[in-house]
Amino acid sequence: MALFPTYLRNEIRPVRGEGVWLWDEGGKRYLDFTSGLGVCNLGHGHPRVREALENQASLLWHVSNLFSIPGQEAVANLLKEASHLDYAFFANSGAEANEAAIKLARRYGHEHRGTERPEVITFRSSFHGRTLATLTATGQEKVQQGCAPLPEGFVYAQYNDMDSVRMVAGENTVAVLLEIVQGEGGIRPADTGFLKELEAFCREREILLMVDEVQTGMGRTGNLFACRDAGILPDVITCAKGLGNGFPVGVMLGRRGLKEFFGPGSHASTFGGSPLAMAVVHAVLKELTETSLLEKSQETGAYLGNRLKETLLSHSLVKEVRGKGLMWGVELDCPAAPLVSHLAHKGLLALPAGPEVLRLLPPLIVTKEQTDIAVEMIVEGLVELEEETADGCVSRI
Ligand SMILES: *Cc1c(COP(=O)(O)O)cnc(C)c1O
Repeated sequence: MALFPTYLRNEIRPVRGEGVWLWDEGGKRYLDFTSGLGVCNLGHGHPRVREALENQASLLWHVSNLFSIPGQEAVANLLKEASHLDYAFFANSGAEANEAAIKLARRYGHEHRGTERPEVITFRSSFHGRTLATLTATGQEKVQQGCAPLPEGFVYAQYNDMDSVRMVAGENTVAVLLEIVQGEGGIRPADTGFLKELEAFCREREILLMVDEVQTGMGRTGNLFACRDAGILPDVITCAKGLGNGFPVGVMLGRRGLKEFFGPGSHASTFGGSPLAMAVVHAVLKELTETSLLEKSQETGAYLGNRLKETLLSHSLVKEVRGKGLMWGVELDCPAAPLVSHLAHKGLLALPAGPEVLRLLPPLIVTKEQTDIAVEMIVEGLVELEEETADGCVSRI
Protein backbone atom coordinates (compact mmCIF):
# COMPACT_ATOMS: atom_id res chain seq x y z
CA MET A 1 0.00 0.00 0.00
CA ALA A 2 1.47 3.35 -1.03
CA LEU A 3 0.68 5.08 2.26
CA PHE A 4 2.93 5.99 5.17
CA PRO A 5 1.91 3.69 7.99
CA THR A 6 1.25 6.60 10.41
CA TYR A 7 -2.17 5.22 11.34
CA LEU A 8 -3.03 1.89 12.94
CA ARG A 9 -6.19 1.47 10.90
CA ASN A 10 -8.93 -1.05 11.48
CA GLU A 11 -10.06 -3.11 8.49
CA ILE A 12 -13.41 -1.37 7.95
CA ARG A 13 -13.70 0.44 4.61
CA PRO A 14 -16.68 2.82 4.75
CA VAL A 15 -17.96 4.10 1.42
CA ARG A 16 -21.30 5.74 2.24
CA GLY A 17 -22.81 7.61 5.17
CA GLU A 18 -26.22 8.90 6.12
CA GLY A 19 -27.07 10.45 9.47
CA VAL A 20 -25.80 8.18 12.27
CA TRP A 21 -25.06 5.28 9.87
CA LEU A 22 -22.10 4.20 7.76
CA TRP A 23 -21.95 1.41 5.16
CA ASP A 24 -18.79 -0.42 4.14
CA GLU A 25 -17.77 -1.84 0.74
CA GLY A 26 -19.58 -5.09 1.46
CA GLY A 27 -22.83 -3.29 2.35
CA LYS A 28 -22.51 -3.90 6.11
CA ARG A 29 -24.09 -1.15 8.22
CA TYR A 30 -22.47 0.45 11.29
CA LEU A 31 -23.82 2.75 13.98
CA ASP A 32 -21.26 5.55 13.96
CA PHE A 33 -20.49 6.81 17.47
CA THR A 34 -17.25 8.44 16.28
CA SER A 35 -18.72 11.14 14.00
CA GLY A 36 -15.45 11.00 12.05
CA LEU A 37 -13.58 11.87 15.27
CA GLY A 38 -16.01 14.48 16.56
CA VAL A 39 -16.35 16.14 13.16
CA CYS A 40 -19.68 15.22 11.58
CA ASN A 41 -21.73 16.59 14.49
CA LEU A 42 -24.80 16.98 12.26
CA GLY A 43 -24.45 13.44 10.96
CA HIS A 44 -23.21 12.20 7.60
CA GLY A 45 -24.59 13.86 4.47
CA HIS A 46 -26.67 16.47 6.30
CA PRO A 47 -29.11 17.86 3.66
CA ARG A 48 -28.72 21.54 4.59
CA VAL A 49 -24.93 21.38 4.59
CA ARG A 50 -24.76 19.33 1.40
CA GLU A 51 -27.03 21.79 -0.38
CA ALA A 52 -24.86 24.74 0.75
CA LEU A 53 -21.75 22.95 -0.53
CA GLU A 54 -23.35 22.03 -3.84
CA ASN A 55 -24.68 25.55 -4.44
CA GLN A 56 -21.34 27.15 -3.66
CA ALA A 57 -19.49 24.54 -5.73
CA SER A 58 -21.24 25.83 -8.82
CA LEU A 59 -20.46 29.49 -8.01
CA LEU A 60 -16.90 29.91 -6.68
CA TRP A 61 -14.48 27.70 -4.74
CA HIS A 62 -11.40 29.76 -3.95
CA VAL A 63 -9.98 33.23 -4.52
CA SER A 64 -7.35 33.60 -1.68
CA ASN A 65 -7.30 36.21 1.04
CA LEU A 66 -6.02 38.86 -1.35
CA PHE A 67 -9.73 39.48 -1.86
CA SER A 68 -12.62 40.25 0.44
CA ILE A 69 -14.72 37.13 0.92
CA PRO A 70 -18.33 37.94 1.80
CA GLY A 71 -18.84 34.48 3.30
CA GLN A 72 -16.05 35.11 5.83
CA GLU A 73 -17.71 38.28 7.04
CA ALA A 74 -21.08 36.55 7.40
CA VAL A 75 -19.59 33.58 9.29
CA ALA A 76 -17.42 35.85 11.47
CA ASN A 77 -20.55 37.74 12.51
CA LEU A 78 -22.36 34.51 13.43
CA LEU A 79 -19.34 33.35 15.44
CA LYS A 80 -19.07 36.73 17.14
CA GLU A 81 -22.66 36.49 18.28
CA ALA A 82 -22.19 32.95 19.52
CA SER A 83 -18.83 33.38 21.25
CA HIS A 84 -18.91 37.04 22.40
CA LEU A 85 -15.46 37.37 20.86
CA ASP A 86 -14.96 40.05 18.26
CA TYR A 87 -12.61 38.81 15.55
CA ALA A 88 -12.04 35.63 13.57
CA PHE A 89 -9.03 34.21 11.72
CA PHE A 90 -9.85 31.27 9.45
CA ALA A 91 -7.53 28.27 9.06
CA ASN A 92 -7.97 24.71 7.81
CA SER A 93 -7.59 22.50 10.87
CA GLY A 94 -7.48 22.42 14.64
CA ALA A 95 -3.71 22.48 14.81
CA GLU A 96 -3.61 25.50 12.54
CA ALA A 97 -6.19 27.34 14.63
CA ASN A 98 -4.03 26.65 17.70
CA GLU A 99 -0.89 27.75 15.84
CA ALA A 100 -2.63 31.06 15.18
CA ALA A 101 -3.48 31.34 18.90
CA ILE A 102 0.10 30.58 19.94
CA LYS A 103 1.46 33.16 17.48
CA LEU A 104 -1.06 35.74 18.68
CA ALA A 105 -0.07 35.05 22.30
CA ARG A 106 3.63 35.49 21.49
CA ARG A 107 2.99 38.72 19.59
CA TYR A 108 0.88 39.96 22.49
CA GLY A 109 3.74 39.04 24.81
CA HIS A 110 6.37 40.91 22.82
CA GLU A 111 4.32 43.98 22.01
CA HIS A 112 2.02 44.42 25.00
CA ARG A 113 3.89 42.81 27.85
CA GLY A 114 7.42 43.57 26.67
CA THR A 115 8.41 39.92 27.21
CA GLU A 116 11.31 38.71 25.09
CA ARG A 117 10.73 35.03 25.80
CA PRO A 118 6.98 34.59 26.06
CA GLU A 119 5.74 31.36 27.62
CA VAL A 120 2.42 29.57 27.24
CA ILE A 121 1.12 27.33 30.03
CA THR A 122 -0.57 24.14 28.85
CA PHE A 123 -1.64 21.01 30.75
CA ARG A 124 -0.61 17.40 31.26
CA SER A 125 -2.74 14.94 29.20
CA SER A 126 -3.86 17.75 26.90
CA PHE A 127 -4.01 17.53 23.13
CA HIS A 128 -3.58 20.53 20.84
CA GLY A 129 -2.43 19.10 17.50
CA ARG A 130 0.47 17.59 15.58
CA THR A 131 2.39 20.54 14.15
CA LEU A 132 5.69 21.26 15.90
CA ALA A 133 4.29 24.05 18.08
CA THR A 134 1.01 22.31 18.88
CA LEU A 135 2.61 18.94 19.64
CA THR A 136 4.89 20.80 22.03
CA ALA A 137 1.83 22.48 23.56
CA THR A 138 0.37 18.98 23.92
CA GLY A 139 1.23 17.66 27.38
CA GLN A 140 1.91 14.07 26.28
CA GLU A 141 5.36 12.66 25.70
CA LYS A 142 4.15 10.01 23.26
CA VAL A 143 3.02 12.78 20.87
CA GLN A 144 6.38 14.55 21.11
CA GLN A 145 8.55 11.46 20.80
CA GLY A 146 11.16 11.61 18.08
CA CYS A 147 10.38 15.22 17.13
CA ALA A 148 13.16 16.99 19.01
CA PRO A 149 14.33 19.72 18.92
CA LEU A 150 10.99 21.10 20.10
CA PRO A 151 10.18 24.81 20.02
CA GLU A 152 10.68 26.65 23.31
CA GLY A 153 8.13 28.61 25.25
CA PHE A 154 5.80 25.98 26.71
CA VAL A 155 5.45 24.94 30.34
CA TYR A 156 3.07 22.31 31.72
CA ALA A 157 0.75 22.37 34.70
CA GLN A 158 -1.57 19.76 36.23
CA TYR A 159 -5.13 19.99 34.93
CA ASN A 160 -7.73 21.10 37.48
CA ASP A 161 -4.97 22.23 39.85
CA MET A 162 -4.56 25.99 40.42
CA ASP A 163 -1.57 25.49 42.73
CA SER A 164 0.24 23.82 39.88
CA VAL A 165 -0.64 26.73 37.56
CA ARG A 166 0.66 29.25 40.12
CA MET A 167 3.81 27.21 40.49
CA VAL A 168 4.73 27.28 36.77
CA ALA A 169 3.45 30.83 36.07
CA GLY A 170 6.10 33.52 35.97
CA GLU A 171 7.18 36.84 34.51
CA ASN A 172 7.20 35.40 30.98
CA THR A 173 3.77 33.77 31.09
CA VAL A 174 1.65 35.39 28.39
CA ALA A 175 -1.11 32.82 27.92
CA VAL A 176 -2.77 29.69 29.26
CA LEU A 177 -4.12 27.23 26.67
CA LEU A 178 -6.54 24.50 27.75
CA GLU A 179 -9.41 22.25 26.77
CA ILE A 180 -12.72 22.50 28.67
CA VAL A 181 -12.98 18.71 28.44
CA GLN A 182 -9.69 16.98 27.64
CA GLY A 183 -10.66 14.86 24.64
CA GLU A 184 -7.74 12.76 23.40
CA GLY A 185 -6.44 12.71 26.97
CA GLY A 186 -9.39 10.59 28.16
CA ILE A 187 -12.60 12.69 28.36
CA ARG A 188 -11.60 14.62 31.47
CA PRO A 189 -13.81 17.64 32.16
CA ALA A 190 -12.39 20.76 33.85
CA ASP A 191 -13.97 21.69 37.19
CA THR A 192 -16.04 24.86 36.96
CA GLY A 193 -14.33 26.17 40.10
CA PHE A 194 -10.93 25.64 38.51
CA LEU A 195 -11.99 27.45 35.32
CA LYS A 196 -13.37 30.43 37.26
CA GLU A 197 -10.24 30.69 39.37
CA LEU A 198 -8.05 30.36 36.29
CA GLU A 199 -10.02 33.12 34.57
CA ALA A 200 -9.57 35.47 37.54
CA PHE A 201 -5.86 34.60 37.76
CA CYS A 202 -5.36 35.37 34.06
CA ARG A 203 -7.28 38.67 34.25
CA GLU A 204 -5.27 39.82 37.21
CA ARG A 205 -1.94 39.15 35.53
CA GLU A 206 -2.88 40.11 31.96
CA ILE A 207 -2.35 36.52 30.85
CA LEU A 208 -4.44 35.48 27.84
CA LEU A 209 -6.96 32.75 28.61
CA MET A 210 -7.07 30.63 25.44
CA VAL A 211 -9.58 27.80 25.19
CA ASP A 212 -9.06 24.98 22.69
CA GLU A 213 -12.59 24.04 21.64
CA VAL A 214 -11.45 22.11 18.58
CA GLN A 215 -13.25 19.02 19.91
CA THR A 216 -15.73 20.49 22.42
CA GLY A 217 -17.03 23.28 20.16
CA MET A 218 -20.04 23.25 17.85
CA GLY A 219 -22.44 21.52 20.20
CA ARG A 220 -20.38 18.52 21.23
CA THR A 221 -20.97 19.20 24.96
CA GLY A 222 -24.51 20.56 24.46
CA ASN A 223 -23.62 24.23 24.00
CA LEU A 224 -22.18 25.89 20.91
CA PHE A 225 -19.04 26.47 23.00
CA ALA A 226 -18.30 24.44 26.13
CA CYS A 227 -16.77 27.46 27.89
CA ARG A 228 -20.21 29.13 27.87
CA ASP A 229 -21.50 26.45 30.25
CA ALA A 230 -18.73 27.16 32.71
CA GLY A 231 -19.60 30.86 32.54
CA ILE A 232 -16.10 31.97 31.60
CA LEU A 233 -15.21 34.35 28.80
CA PRO A 234 -11.83 33.47 27.31
CA ASP A 235 -9.68 35.95 25.37
CA VAL A 236 -9.23 33.40 22.60
CA ILE A 237 -11.22 30.36 21.45
CA THR A 238 -10.09 27.92 18.77
CA CYS A 239 -12.52 25.65 16.99
CA ALA A 240 -12.33 23.20 14.10
CA LYS A 241 -13.65 19.64 14.15
CA GLY A 242 -17.42 20.20 14.12
CA LEU A 243 -17.21 23.53 12.34
CA GLY A 244 -17.38 22.19 8.78
CA ASN A 245 -19.16 18.86 9.47
CA GLY A 246 -16.41 17.15 7.48
CA PHE A 247 -15.19 20.06 5.33
CA PRO A 248 -11.69 20.94 6.60
CA VAL A 249 -11.85 24.32 8.34
CA GLY A 250 -10.65 25.87 11.59
CA VAL A 251 -10.97 29.22 13.25
CA MET A 252 -9.34 31.30 15.95
CA LEU A 253 -11.59 33.82 17.67
CA GLY A 254 -10.20 36.66 19.76
CA ARG A 255 -11.45 39.57 21.82
CA ARG A 256 -11.45 43.17 20.64
CA GLY A 257 -8.21 44.28 22.31
CA LEU A 258 -6.16 41.68 20.47
CA LYS A 259 -6.72 43.17 17.01
CA GLU A 260 -3.55 45.27 17.09
CA PHE A 261 -1.33 42.18 17.57
CA PHE A 262 -2.60 40.46 14.43
CA GLY A 263 -2.15 43.22 11.87
CA PRO A 264 -1.38 42.97 8.14
CA GLY A 265 1.39 40.47 7.40
CA SER A 266 1.43 38.93 10.90
CA HIS A 267 -0.26 35.69 9.84
CA ALA A 268 -1.80 34.15 6.73
CA SER A 269 -3.23 31.02 5.14
CA THR A 270 -3.62 30.32 1.44
CA PHE A 271 -6.70 28.15 1.81
CA GLY A 272 -8.14 29.60 5.03
CA GLY A 273 -11.71 30.86 4.84
CA SER A 274 -12.38 29.96 1.20
CA PRO A 275 -15.84 30.70 -0.21
CA LEU A 276 -16.47 26.93 -0.30
CA ALA A 277 -15.51 26.46 3.36
CA MET A 278 -17.52 29.49 4.44
CA ALA A 279 -20.68 28.33 2.68
CA VAL A 280 -20.46 25.06 4.59
CA VAL A 281 -19.72 26.67 7.97
CA HIS A 282 -22.56 29.13 7.46
CA ALA A 283 -25.00 26.26 6.98
CA VAL A 284 -23.59 24.37 9.99
CA LEU A 285 -23.91 27.42 12.25
CA LYS A 286 -27.44 28.18 11.07
CA GLU A 287 -28.46 24.59 11.73
CA LEU A 288 -26.96 24.70 15.23
CA THR A 289 -28.37 28.11 16.18
CA GLU A 290 -31.75 28.22 14.47
CA THR A 291 -33.10 24.78 15.28
CA SER A 292 -33.77 22.96 18.56
CA LEU A 293 -30.95 20.50 17.82
CA LEU A 294 -28.71 21.70 20.66
CA GLU A 295 -31.45 21.40 23.29
CA LYS A 296 -32.42 17.99 21.97
CA SER A 297 -28.79 16.88 22.02
CA GLN A 298 -28.49 17.97 25.67
CA GLU A 299 -31.43 15.73 26.48
CA THR A 300 -30.08 12.78 24.50
CA GLY A 301 -26.62 13.35 25.97
CA ALA A 302 -27.90 13.31 29.54
CA TYR A 303 -29.90 10.19 28.72
CA LEU A 304 -26.84 8.45 27.24
CA GLY A 305 -24.70 9.41 30.24
CA ASN A 306 -27.28 8.02 32.67
CA ARG A 307 -27.71 4.79 30.72
CA LEU A 308 -23.93 4.30 30.59
CA LYS A 309 -23.67 4.83 34.35
CA GLU A 310 -26.67 2.61 35.15
CA THR A 311 -25.53 -0.30 33.02
CA LEU A 312 -21.73 -0.15 33.16
CA LEU A 313 -20.62 1.06 36.57
CA SER A 314 -21.43 -2.29 38.17
CA HIS A 315 -19.18 -4.10 35.69
CA SER A 316 -15.85 -5.19 37.13
CA LEU A 317 -13.84 -3.81 34.20
CA VAL A 318 -15.44 -0.32 34.35
CA LYS A 319 -13.85 2.26 36.63
CA GLU A 320 -15.64 5.49 35.76
CA VAL A 321 -18.08 7.08 33.30
CA ARG A 322 -17.36 10.75 32.52
CA GLY A 323 -18.64 13.29 30.07
CA LYS A 324 -21.05 15.95 29.03
CA GLY A 325 -23.47 16.48 26.17
CA LEU A 326 -22.63 13.86 23.56
CA MET A 327 -18.99 13.47 24.61
CA TRP A 328 -18.64 10.44 26.90
CA GLY A 329 -15.75 8.37 28.17
CA VAL A 330 -15.87 4.99 29.90
CA GLU A 331 -12.68 4.42 31.83
CA LEU A 332 -11.79 0.74 31.89
CA ASP A 333 -9.54 -1.31 34.07
CA CYS A 334 -7.74 -2.56 30.94
CA PRO A 335 -6.79 -1.34 27.45
CA ALA A 336 -9.72 0.06 25.43
CA ALA A 337 -8.46 -1.04 21.99
CA PRO A 338 -9.74 -4.66 22.16
CA LEU A 339 -13.22 -3.45 23.14
CA VAL A 340 -13.24 -0.83 20.36
CA SER A 341 -12.31 -3.46 17.80
CA HIS A 342 -14.84 -5.97 19.20
CA LEU A 343 -17.61 -3.35 19.03
CA ALA A 344 -16.70 -2.51 15.44
CA HIS A 345 -17.22 -6.18 14.52
CA LYS A 346 -20.64 -6.02 16.17
CA GLY A 347 -21.52 -2.89 14.15
CA LEU A 348 -20.85 -0.08 16.64
CA LEU A 349 -18.05 2.35 15.85
CA ALA A 350 -16.48 3.93 18.94
CA LEU A 351 -13.08 5.39 19.80
CA PRO A 352 -10.36 5.03 22.37
CA ALA A 353 -9.16 8.13 24.27
CA GLY A 354 -5.84 7.47 25.89
CA PRO A 355 -4.99 3.81 26.54
CA GLU A 356 -7.89 2.79 28.80
CA VAL A 357 -10.88 4.97 27.94
CA LEU A 358 -13.67 4.05 25.53
CA ARG A 359 -14.85 7.30 23.91
CA LEU A 360 -18.29 7.91 22.43
CA LEU A 361 -18.88 10.90 20.16
CA PRO A 362 -22.20 10.23 18.37
CA PRO A 363 -23.60 12.91 16.09
CA LEU A 364 -25.95 15.40 17.78
CA ILE A 365 -28.86 14.01 15.76
CA VAL A 366 -28.58 10.61 17.46
CA THR A 367 -31.87 9.36 18.97
CA LYS A 368 -32.45 7.87 22.41
CA GLU A 369 -33.31 4.57 20.72
CA GLN A 370 -29.96 4.56 18.92
CA THR A 371 -28.10 5.30 22.17
CA ASP A 372 -29.99 2.36 23.73
CA ILE A 373 -28.72 0.09 20.95
CA ALA A 374 -25.17 1.34 21.49
CA VAL A 375 -25.26 0.91 25.28
CA GLU A 376 -26.62 -2.61 24.89
CA MET A 377 -23.81 -3.48 22.47
CA ILE A 378 -21.20 -2.12 24.89
CA VAL A 379 -22.63 -4.16 27.78
CA GLU A 380 -22.70 -7.30 25.60
CA GLY A 381 -19.26 -6.50 24.22
CA LEU A 382 -17.72 -6.29 27.68
CA VAL A 383 -19.28 -9.61 28.71
CA GLU A 384 -18.21 -11.34 25.49
CA LEU A 385 -14.66 -10.02 25.75
CA GLU A 386 -14.45 -11.19 29.32
CA GLU A 387 -15.63 -14.67 28.34
CA GLU A 388 -13.28 -14.83 25.40
CA THR A 389 -10.18 -13.87 27.31
CA ALA A 390 -9.71 -14.74 30.94
CA ASP A 391 -9.50 -11.13 32.05
CA GLY A 392 -11.09 -9.37 29.06
CA CYS A 393 -7.88 -7.50 28.47
CA VAL A 394 -5.88 -9.48 25.94
CA SER A 395 -5.50 -7.62 22.68
CA ARG A 396 -7.35 -9.15 19.72
CA ILE A 397 -5.15 -7.41 17.20
C1 LIG B 1 -8.31 17.13 17.22
C2 LIG B 1 -7.83 18.18 18.10
C3 LIG B 1 -6.85 19.10 17.68
C4 LIG B 1 -6.14 18.97 16.35
O1 LIG B 1 -6.99 19.17 15.29
P1 LIG B 1 -6.49 18.80 13.77
O2 LIG B 1 -7.62 19.29 12.92
O3 LIG B 1 -6.30 17.33 13.74
O4 LIG B 1 -5.24 19.54 13.55
C5 LIG B 1 -6.51 20.12 18.53
N1 LIG B 1 -7.09 20.25 19.75
C6 LIG B 1 -8.03 19.39 20.18
C7 LIG B 1 -8.65 19.61 21.52
C8 LIG B 1 -8.43 18.33 19.39
O5 LIG B 1 -9.33 17.46 19.84
